[in-house]
Amino acid sequence: MQFIDLKTQYSLIEENVKARIETVLRHGQFVMGPEIQELEERLAEFVGVRHCIGMSSGTDALLAAMMALEIGRGDEVITTPFTFIATGEMIALLGARPIFVDIDPVTYNLDPDLLEDAITGRTRAIMPVSLYGQCAEMDAINAVAERHRLPVIEDAAQSFGASDRGRRSCGLSTIGCTSFFPAKPLGAYGDGGACFTGDDALAKKLREIRNHGQDRRYHHPSLGLNGRLDTIQAAVLLAKMDVFPDEIAARSRLGDRYTALLSERGAASTATGGAAVLTPAIRPDNLSVYAQYTIQVPDRDEVATRLQDRGIPTAVHYPVPLNEQPVFHVGLETGATPVSADVAKRVISLPMHPYLSENEQIQVADAVAKAAGLTLS
Ligand SMILES: *Cc1c(COP(=O)(O)O)cnc(C)c1O
Repeated sequence: MQFIDLKTQYSLIEENVKARIETVLRHGQFVMGPEIQELEERLAEFVGVRHCIGMSSGTDALLAAMMALEIGRGDEVITTPFTFIATGEMIALLGARPIFVDIDPVTYNLDPDLLEDAITGRTRAIMPVSLYGQCAEMDAINAVAERHRLPVIEDAAQSFGASDRGRRSCGLSTIGCTSFFPAKPLGAYGDGGACFTGDDALAKKLREIRNHGQDRRYHHPSLGLNGRLDTIQAAVLLAKMDVFPDEIAARSRLGDRYTALLSERGAASTATGGAAVLTPAIRPDNLSVYAQYTIQVPDRDEVATRLQDRGIPTAVHYPVPLNEQPVFHVGLETGATPVSADVAKRVISLPMHPYLSENEQIQVADAVAKAAGLTLS
């Protein structure tokens, strides 16, 4: 069994991918070719926001978003410690200080109730992460941000295609940033990413930043990056967009089926305490793309080993909160983010992709129930 199966998807889209790449090989505009604009228009329409700006990666999308908002030395950006390194890393790379606010223990996303206390005179933005494929609580976060006139950047690297009451991830804040890393819900065949915004001025800035701060040929009003998305990756993504809506539906269905299968085995609960396995909680009227199907178990390493013995791969997203990483190491003495510290010890992600069979899911659920039960006794 594979953790993420990209081969089955390729067998479905092979002809279209090859034709799209062949077109690029023939026109030869490998950088900023016509596929970039075509993809940007398609993705902007898909998300329901005015502008999409293709970027070289999700990491660069976050960096460019903060550069567009002129975040720099001495500034503070509020984010979650329970995320991939890039979120905090890009804040610090700009000379700003990541302020780590704890998460909700059930959704794993930034706890909006803790935001207000973290805001200071130096706060310049709030950067929630829509972890595991479910939108962060953007309404509550936006309400706090509006009160303090702060922009919100959604790190939507794991949630492209997710929605909250029919509104799509990436279109829920000042700037939404996503990643097209191959293992993400919408993955390219290499690195890629995008920024989304409804703000015309920010969109213009983002387009300049991704191209060395250039507003017209050899004229540079500001500093930027080589942050462009490759034409070939845009071509791949255009081919993948044909199957993406079906994949979103499949991801959501398969995630729910995992939860049902685990519950049937008496192993699962969505409330903390009690059952051996804590399954994901999706907020009402939310659709998760389950970038990861992540559960909590009491003895994670034991469960991982037992699953591995049965040929079932697992992963841990993430074993160490960012504020415990040597590069940051902040606020630990005060136990500032106890929920993140706690769940980081117990989370484990199960195989998840849109082409997982029912039989595979049953195998996984049986193995998890057995392993979790055994570790309890
Ligand atoms: C993957 C990921 C990123 C970085 O995206 P890349 O395209 O790999 O640079 C940032 N934040 C989160 C939460 C991610 O999962």
